[in-house]
Amino acid sequence: MSETACVFCKIVEGEIPAERIAETDEVLVISDINPQAPHHYLAFPKQHIEVFSKVPGVARSLFECIEAAVKKRDLESLGGFRIVMNLGKAAGQEVEHIHFHLLAGRPFQWPPG
Ligand code: 5GP
Ligand code: ZN
Repeated sequence: MSETACVFCKIVEGEIPAERIAETDEVLVISDINPQAPHHYLAFPKQHIEVFSKVPGVARSLFECIEAAVKKRDLESLGGFRIVMNLGKAAGQEVEHIHFHLLAGRPFQWPPG
């Protein structure tokens, strides 16, 4: 998937609207358009990164921004939350711009489906 066709890159550029929960120079956290829990956010680097091997370089920034979103929405008061990264079609990945899902506000099953 090219950068110009990427939905998350378009959100970063403001070409597609999204509810912005937290943001740094490097990372954006938005509300998912199709939430799978009462709270469902997506945290991704503003840079178009497709491959997992480049995730460690932005992991600290991603988690710092996720922490800001957790605090902003007071997710720790909800009893638990889940952070997920789907990598590859078999894992359910649809957008080829790496991102963490942050889900909260309902019980979660283990193992995930
Ligand atoms: P994946 O399946 O790649 O792990 O997750 C992609 C996520 O992006 C899905 O949960 C989907 O609902 C979300 N998504 C796809 N397009 C948009 C969009 O235009 N805006 C927002 N806010 N979320 C989107
Ligand atoms: Zn992208």
